[in-house]
Order: sequence, then C-alpha cells, then structure tokens
Amino acid sequence: MTVIVRFAPSPTGHLHIGNLRTALFNWLFAANQGGRFVLRFDDTDTERSRREFADMIETDLAWIGIGPHAVIHQSERLDHYAAAAERLKQAGLLYPCYETPDELDRKRKRLAARNLPPVYGREALRLSEAEKQAFEAEGRRAHWRFLLPNFTSDPHSPQRTEIHWDDLIRGPQTVDLGSLSDPVLMRADGSYLYTLPSIVDDGETGVTHVIRGDDHVTNTGVQIVLFRALGLDAPVFGHHNLLTAIGGEGLSKRTGALSLKSLRESGYEPMAVASLAVLVGLSGSIEAMPDLGALAERLRFDDVSPSASKFDPAELDRLNGEIVHALPYAAVAGRLAAMGVPEDRGGMFWQAVRGNCVKVADAGGWVPVVFGDLPDKPALSGDERAFVEAAGELLPEGDFGPETWREWTGKVKQATGRKGKPLFMPLRLALTGLDHGPELAALLPLIGRERTIARLS
Ligand code: GLU
Repeated sequence: MTVIVRFAPSPTGHLHIGNLRTALFNWLFAANQGGRFVLRFDDTDTERSRREFADMIETDLAWIGIGPHAVIHQSERLDHYAAAAERLKQAGLLYPCYETPDELDRKRKRLAARNLPPVYGREALRLSEAEKQAFEAEGRRAHWRFLLPNFTSDPHSPQRTEIHWDDLIRGPQTVDLGSLSDPVLMRADGSYLYTLPSIVDDGETGVTHVIRGDDHVTNTGVQIVLFRALGLDAPVFGHHNLLTAIGGEGLSKRTGALSLKSLRESGYEPMAVASLAVLVGLSGSIEAMPDLGALAERLRFDDVSPSASKFDPAELDRLNGEIVHALPYAAVAGRLAAMGVPEDRGGMFWQAVRGNCVKVADAGGWVPVVFGDLPDKPALSGDERAFVEAAGELLPEGDFGPETWREWTGKVKQATGRKGKPLFMPLRLALTGLDHGPELAALLPLIGRERTIARLS
C-alpha cells in the first residue's frame, strides 16, 4: 500500500509555524514511508478563500523544501460533494433544518439555563412536509444536518455511542456520538462546511493517513461515521499537539502571528524554522537539522507530547545561529554580494563574521567596518586615544595576514606593559567602533593597512 497523506489548509490567510508543524508531520511521515504528499486547498468558503493566499502557501512550502506530489482545489470538485450530499439525502441521513442563527442561539441558552449540554435536539426532524413548504414560501432556505447514528430506533432518544480508533500519535481514542449535535454539512446558501468535502476527498483520493492538529479529535469521531455512511474506507488518523505563542495564546492564520512569510522576510533559515516546528513538543533535544531527510529521522510519533507546546522565538534565534555559524561561503555568496561584499574577499569575510551572526543578514553590519568607513570616530578617553596612537606606530610592515594581529599586539604589550582587555579593547573600539565582534586577528587583514592606520590616528 502506498502511503498517501494530505495537508489541507484553507487559503484564508498566511501559514504560521503551527500549520507548518502539520504540513511537516505529513511530509516527513510520507518521506519515511516512501509515500505521496497531496496539498489540498479547502477553499469551498468563497467569501474568505483567496487565490493569493493559496499561491503564498505554495511559496511558503517550497521555501521549506516541500514540493507536493499533487495539488487539489476543493472549489473545482463541487460536483463530487453534491453527489455525496444527494446520496446521504436519499439514505435519510442528511435532513433540512430551518432555524435561524438567532433561534439556535435561544435554544442553546434555554438548555444552558437547565444545565443541559448545548446539543441540537433534532427538532427539524419533526417538521411535516407542509411546515417545510411554509418555511420555503417565507423565503427561508434549509441548512442540512447529518443524522449521527447515535440511537436505536428513536432519533429523539440519543444514546451513548462510542466510536473508537487507534490514533497514530495519541493511541486508543474514544468519542461519544451521543453527546454531539448533528453536524451541519451544508449552509443555507448551498455552500459546504469543511466536513463533507474533506471526507469525500480523503476517500476519493485514497488518503491513507490523516495527520492533523488535536483540535480535530472530536471531528474525527463524526468523520469516521460519515466515511462509513458514504461507503468509503476511513483512513488512519493521527492527531498532534498544537503550538501556541510564548504567552500560551493560539496561533491564527488571520493575525499573521509567526507567519512563515514574516519569518522568511526577517531572514530566518528554512531549516531553523522547520527544525523548531517539528522538534518542539517532541521528547529529545531541539537541534537545527541540516535537511528534511535528517529531520524525518527524528520524527517518531511516540515522542509527541500530549499537551500544547510553546513556540519560543529565542529558540528560533538559537537554531538559526547554529545553522548560520556552519554555513559555507558558497551558500551565502549571493546574499553577501548583495550587501556589497567584494567577491575576492567574500570567503575570508564570511569566515571572520559568521560566528557573530544569528542571521546571514547580520553580516551586513560588518560590511562598513571592514570595507567602508566607521559612521563615527569612536569616543575614547585621552589616555586610550594616546595608547591607540602609540600602538599605531608599532604596526608590522608589509601586507596584513593572519599572523599580523598576534605579532602586532606582542610588540604593543612589550612596549606599553598592557595585556588582556586593557590592551585589546581600546584597539577593538578604535578599529571597529564596537566593544564586541569577530576575532580581530581575522578582521585586521580584511580592514587592511590603510584603514587601520586612519582609525588609529
Ligand atoms: N481545512 C481544515 C483545517 O485547516 C483541514 C483539517 C483537516 O486536516 O482535516 O482545519
């Protein structure tokens, strides 16, 4: 059996790191199983779905390295959902309801006042043909509910009806259909809510494993019986824990919080983002993985924590730094050239500065220090300025090389008696304008004799 998974975002906003967790759990699982990954746009909500969001989702996934084996747009498959809805109607499993949102709300409030759960009482099942026609004549249009199989003969006496499945991630699960409302599958305007199209597509496209966030656990109970009602095989389900922001609040596609677009634009490396999206909330250490293949080896569903995990931006910086510190020059040559780094000294420059960069873009801060002018002459006390000038007199002759710093500071130490921080800090300040940064031994040959002399005098 070929494993087929799907990632099914609604194109109503930008993907965030929590959505990426779902996409990667699917992608990596399929990669480990030699399976296929389908990208399915759940875009039956025409009001909120946008083509540009769908395009951006593909761009985001491509940035991470996820290329789908197939792309499906639900908006192009409406006839399949209509056929399925018709089959359910014929079987008496999809029934019309005429309550307005206000009426439903009042029903829920009445139940709450009696301390009863807000479960729909199937009042619409009691409507006679004449009553339905009267509603239609009034201009009301029906929304349609799926009759859950949670009763023996009288739908108005629902009973505890357990649905079980062995969840790939959470182990054995049980949902009681007796405590649920019949789900609305079609709105009064004829559009579909997410459930029916999802089941039809999962069934018809041969999805073998549905891996998604644990906010869908209850839906799964309903979906399993819907698969059965349509004569389709239910896939294996796996529900992973969700990611929240650092304060514990949920991530939302619409607020743009921690969107992949914003992470990409702020210069994070895709493997830092991917590593964190997967490894947070898994047992074991969170490290930057070199590629998706290595990340796939770390994905074990037994390791997934049962509770929500917090996404910590500081952790992302740490992982990004780990990756950047090890990036070879070839991987960044284009980006450095765009910052004005001359190609012939790019390799040396990158070796010198990468250990001080959390993001590749941070290298840009060292470009004027090395290849240009310091914005301001660094403020040094009279004593320090005199020390720096004296040190300038002791610069070794000839071109600067990797040994120049050691040779020079050796002479300065001998001549002035200074050592350690009092020796190198004024030189660092004079040469770079900063009290921290890459090894001066590596910077000095890049800064070169001419600039060094000018900054010391
Ligand atoms: N479009 C649904 C969502 O984003 C898909 C859920 C599912 O994977 O079944 O929540």
